[in-house]
Amino acid sequence: MPDQFQITSSLLNAIWEIRLFLPFNIMMIPTIQSKLPQVGTSIFTVMSALATETGAINLGQGFPDFPMNAQLISLVNRAMKDGYNQYAPMPGWMPLRESIAEKIYLLYGSQVHPETDITITPGGTYAIYTALTTVLQPGDEVIIFEPAYDSYIPNVEVNGAVPVLIDLKFPGYKIDWKEVRRRISPKTRMIMLNSPHNPTGAILDEEDINELRAIVEGTNIIILSDEVYEHLIFDNIPHQSILRYPDLMKRSFVCFSFGKVYHCTGWKLGYCVSSAALTKEFRKVHQFNCFSCHTPSQIGLAEFLSDKNSYTTLGAFLQKKRDYFQDLMGQTKFTPIPSYGSYFQCYKYDRISDESDKDFAIRITKQYGVASIPVSAFYHSGKDNKVIRFCFAKKEETLEQAVEKLTKIK
Ligand code: PMP
Ligand code: GLN
Repeated sequence: MPDQFQITSSLLNAIWEIRLFLPFNIMMIPTIQSKLPQVGTSIFTVMSALATETGAINLGQGFPDFPMNAQLISLVNRAMKDGYNQYAPMPGWMPLRESIAEKIYLLYGSQVHPETDITITPGGTYAIYTALTTVLQPGDEVIIFEPAYDSYIPNVEVNGAVPVLIDLKFPGYKIDWKEVRRRISPKTRMIMLNSPHNPTGAILDEEDINELRAIVEGTNIIILSDEVYEHLIFDNIPHQSILRYPDLMKRSFVCFSFGKVYHCTGWKLGYCVSSAALTKEFRKVHQFNCFSCHTPSQIGLAEFLSDKNSYTTLGAFLQKKRDYFQDLMGQTKFTPIPSYGSYFQCYKYDRISDESDKDFAIRITKQYGVASIPVSAFYHSGKDNKVIRFCFAKKEETLEQAVEKLTKIK
């Protein structure tokens, strides 16, 4: 006699076999509950696709169109030819971590230990995601300033935490520290900062650091400082890296991108600097996600960074492009918002149109052949100050051709 278990499992087997004869639309298709139901395609992808489709000049997505440093390419090439093609150590190639520590000491006067405080990551975005995942528990609150780089809010939400959004003061995009004080709560776990800032080119100054210090002192708040545009700061203004301040450093994850500063965004390589205690936890998440990063690039970068010219000349190089672009744009009806760093310059277009920034950016891509990024995409609410962002990290001829088109907009 078959027992009840055998009968049940034969029945289930029969039902499972029958599925092959069912019409397609009632076949069982597995479904999942989206962790990010609000998220669509990023504005960078959308505008780059539109630029390609229409043959427009792409001043939207932030990437250079000029060649990267040839010496760095040959150093990476040499590492490959020399046979360095297997896994790097999980925290990163030690000579690269040593070069980074030397650079930090030289620029910011802080002692960072390559063994315990620096982790090489596949890009800045990954470093930010990993830091947030390391820290956040469901229900934790994270202060984010808007406009904000598009990965921040989804990174917080996917961890079950809650973004607390504060607008930067328009049009200078400075932090309203009084508002920060009002929005701090017992649940505040992190504050996210980004200087030089994407999309606005705003920067933090010493006063901002003092305000931050006063707010976090004696609390359990962690700082996430996105400094992927570290060296791309203009007019001889010192970069207010969190790494200058040992008291802030011990409660911070500071994230960097080689892709951004060395004009090789496609390499997706960066690093995270933190205290030994925080780094230990960061590496627990990292080792089960990507484990280690592209070995030959790390070897090439280790040697490249040992020459300080590789990073001390970058600001001036990009500043020339900003100035050139701004000069050319003087012939148009766009109004600039000052940019002190990054790849970007924002413009108001109120003397041209009162369209929404998205409509305007799409129209000028299609009609005039220049793609930009509407800044409302950096606000969760879609707040529209009628500002668009241009990337000036381009060859002079690209900037000239783009501005020639933009002057035709009346
Ligand atoms: N943060 C900001 C503000 C950025 O603009 C970028 C550029 N994509 C990143 C992080 C990420 O850098 P990466 O390409 O190295 O991931
Ligand atoms: N950081 C780049 C920008 O702001 C885009 C990177 C991406 O496409 N995710 O344009």
